[in-house]
Amino acid sequence: MRVIVVGAGLAGLTCAKVLKGRGAEVAVFEASDGVGGRVRTDEREGFLLDRGFQVYFTSYPVSKRHLDHGALDFRAFDPGAVVHRGSERSVLSDPVRDPKALVPTLLSEDATFADKLRTVGLGARTLPGSATSAGRENGGADVSILEYLRSSGLSERYIDSFFRPFYGGITLNRALTTSSRVLRFTFRMLATGRTVVPALGMGEISNQLASHLAESDVHLNTPVETLLREDGRVRGVATSGREHEADAVVVATDAPTAGDLTGDETPKESVGEVCLYYETSGLDDGRKILLNADDAPFVNNASEMSNVSEKYAPEGRHLLYAVTLAGLDLSDEELLRRGVEDISRWYPDAEFRPLGLRRIPYGQFAQPPGIHEGLPDNRTETLGLFLAGEYTEDSSINGSMLSGEKAALEVLG
Ligand SMILES: Cc1cc2nc3c(=O)[nH]c(=O)nc-3n(C[C@H](O)[C@H](O)[C@H](O)COP(=O)(O)OP(=O)(O)OC[C@H]3O[C@@H](n4cnc5c(N)ncnc54)[C@H](O)[C@@H]3O)c2cc1C
Repeated sequence: MRVIVVGAGLAGLTCAKVLKGRGAEVAVFEASDGVGGRVRTDEREGFLLDRGFQVYFTSYPVSKRHLDHGALDFRAFDPGAVVHRGSERSVLSDPVRDPKALVPTLLSEDATFADKLRTVGLGARTLPGSATSAGRENGGADVSILEYLRSSGLSERYIDSFFRPFYGGITLNRALTTSSRVLRFTFRMLATGRTVVPALGMGEISNQLASHLAESDVHLNTPVETLLREDGRVRGVATSGREHEADAVVVATDAPTAGDLTGDETPKESVGEVCLYYETSGLDDGRKILLNADDAPFVNNASEMSNVSEKYAPEGRHLLYAVTLAGLDLSDEELLRRGVEDISRWYPDAEFRPLGLRRIPYGQFAQPPGIHEGLPDNRTETLGLFLAGEYTEDSSINGSMLSGEKAALEVLG
């Protein structure tokens, strides 16, 4: 059986890996110059720049079926966060993951004692779940993250100072209007495993998946322009004037491109970010994520990545990622200037040298409450045509890999 996979993101790569492992002949067509889609790492002056601030949860149930965790040489963040508000700073532990840090945390003004107990309660509500993704399988009533937190009794101050920037960073939506299914699933991931990056950058996840394919299976810089249709079925694809025949085609692009190529209904809305990269003189805040609890922040969250993995920077040097959820329309100079302005308030003695930035207008498909139930299936109504991508499950590494796996199994029947 010959299968064409359109797109070498995590969904397409996982799909191709599963198909190949079961004996199918696979050809992957990728529009860009590399594999990984949204999960790639670039190197500049010896610094490792992931395409946006991304992390991996070692508890992800599906991705661990396809990845060799040991070979990725994971480096872990510390649980909890350092919360900045203006020039004030407080350390919040994660009471579920790091109970020993609960006592010093009680001194923090950002969370009351009752909040902490309720966070433990929130963990207890989410931990018994067994869904393998945040989406359809993760049943139960679906409201916004904000409503869910309020109904759990957490104070507005705690929500604003921790959950807004923390979940704003995970969902790229600080308004917390994303589905509470995403909160419930990721809270369980946070509580039951480690939050990590591969020592050599997030792109290693994609590279490892691609290593299951032969180089000749993957055609880079080869955008698929149209699907070839005949007698009501899809029989292949066309790339810049050339036609390629197959028994099945899996469209594994982002949702809007999949909608354009197939004519099927796919989610249209998205959320994005700009990731700013700075060399710093060292911030001494260890491996915790840094959160901005200001009412009108520019930087939402930041991390000194070279503390998490020393390989992210040349020896003895320091690399900071800072994420803004606003300002996609600002000039590069303005983005980098405003980033330093925010972070210098937190670390007035540190020095910052801009290394660059990455604009990611299409970061994740938007996931308002209720969206997961109506997402497209992997099998379409057109014979020979299948869909893979985060948008059939949930926006995450785990969700996109689950989608790729399911699409492959549908193709194989
Ligand atoms: C900034 C950011 C932060 C995130 N944070 C996290 C996180 O911390 N943890 C987590 O689990 N997830 C996170 N995610 C989500 C996760 O990265 C995505 O859900 C996942 O990578 C999507 O994979 P995909 O294969 O569905 O799509 P994509 O990665 O978009 O892959 C689609 C591929 O199709 C290619 N393509 C498009 N059109 C064509 C065409 N016509 N012909 C051929 N190829 C084409 C594209 O070039 C691309 O390579 C984050 C995403 C972003 C962007």
